[in-house]
Amino acid sequence: MKLAVVGAGWAGLACAVHAVRAGHDVTVFEAARTAGGRARRVDASGGLALDNGQHILIGAYSATLALMRELGVQPEAAMLRTPLQLRFADGGGLALPRLPAPLDLVAGILGAQGWIWRDKSSLLRTALAWRAARFQCESHTTVADLCAGLTPRVTKELIEPLCVSALNTPVAQSSGQVFLRVLHDALFAERGGADLLLPRVDLGRLLPDAAADWLVRQGAQVRLGQRVQALAHDAAGWQLDGERFDQVILASPPWEAARLVRESGIGAASWVAAAEGLRYEAIATVYAQGARRVLQAPMVALRNGPQAPAQFVFDRSLLGGPQGLLAFVVSASTLGREQLQDEVLAQAASQLKEDQLQVVQTVVEKRATFACTPGLVRPPMQVAPGLLACGDYVEGPYPATLEGAIRSGCAAASQFGAVG
Ligand SMILES: Cc1cc2nc3c(=O)[nH]c(=O)nc-3n(C[C@H](O)[C@H](O)[C@H](O)COP(=O)(O)OP(=O)(O)OC[C@H]3O[C@@H](n4cnc5c(N)ncnc54)[C@H](O)[C@@H]3O)c2cc1C
Repeated sequence: MKLAVVGAGWAGLACAVHAVRAGHDVTVFEAARTAGGRARRVDASGGLALDNGQHILIGAYSATLALMRELGVQPEAAMLRTPLQLRFADGGGLALPRLPAPLDLVAGILGAQGWIWRDKSSLLRTALAWRAARFQCESHTTVADLCAGLTPRVTKELIEPLCVSALNTPVAQSSGQVFLRVLHDALFAERGGADLLLPRVDLGRLLPDAAADWLVRQGAQVRLGQRVQALAHDAAGWQLDGERFDQVILASPPWEAARLVRESGIGAASWVAAAEGLRYEAIATVYAQGARRVLQAPMVALRNGPQAPAQFVFDRSLLGGPQGLLAFVVSASTLGREQLQDEVLAQAASQLKEDQLQVVQTVVEKRATFACTPGLVRPPMQVAPGLLACGDYVEGPYPATLEGAIRSGCAAASQFGAVG
């Protein structure tokens, strides 16, 4: 079959690779001049390769890790693997030892620094209750509801950073169901599922470059810098800007997929309404340069609150980057660029005791992820016969993540079956 994939983000690339493997004739259209979408390399001044946002993967990202290996990227070399830790610069917080689940969690809770027994027992009790309920809850439950029995310290130092980094949505508005699913898959499904995998190479080299090269070597077309303007359908099949295809997979973000479907006049009104009904949260990454090494670990949690917007800071020099380069991550960000930079620098001065940092670059992704709220109805994969959608926002158990995008891309490709 002659297939078109619209978008070379991680979902579109995964879909294209699997469709080529199944024997189809694939053309990928990508509006930008580089592949990777919302997880891509950004070339900064002075030849510095940064990312559009610091990303964290975890051990439970099985589909992502499998695809990397298929494409010849070795996850062990490309990422630093450590057991889950949410430690603050002052040493407080939780770090899991390397033990089989759930012993790692129990030992991590009992050993949490700066927590009194009431904090630890509230978390043990609550975690046992979640396990007894098989990590299920009512669809309207928020993460704040789920955590009502936890002490304020546990909520602030563990649940808030976990929730905002996984769902990119504040706890009071986040879906309890999705949060429990992520916790289950990370902490209870497989050994090492909660391990942090921190990229040591830029996001382009982590997967998109290898995927695009592989596709071209296999005879697929990857047309970078070609934004699809119009989708049309007639008795002979589909057309993208006048070019014919048997089937089309929309791997662009939801707002762009909805535009193409709506303007095509094919109907699919409920799909368009679901895609256009999504709301978004921003993520900002502030890259700042210091004269010396500042952190003792590649990733450190920050105490976040009024005038302290960042939740995490990464030392890129411990992740293959230049000496003194830090990446501050502000999930669910609402501030303007200037204020954000000023507040992040002040936060670094007070929490990291580092007041000589210079901002190198700030990347604000306004529509970084969909807001993962309770009872959210997400658009399904099937838009119309012969027209599919894939991406992190398509109906599925996970929040907007790389793993959600890759799984969605693989699921879309599997709909076409193998040739011959
Ligand atoms: C700053 C930031 C930090 C994040 N951190 C994490 C993290 O730590 N861990 C994690 O798992 N996830 C994280 N995410 C989420 C993750 O990056 C996304 O879930 C994932 O990249 C989405 O991939 P996608 O392929 O579904 O969509 P996209 O990446 O949006 O890909 C869609 C592609 O379609 C292209 N396109 C759009 N319109 C057209 C058109 N008309 N024609 C042709 N091409 C078109 C776009 O240019 C884009 O390349 C983060 C996201 C951001 C923005």
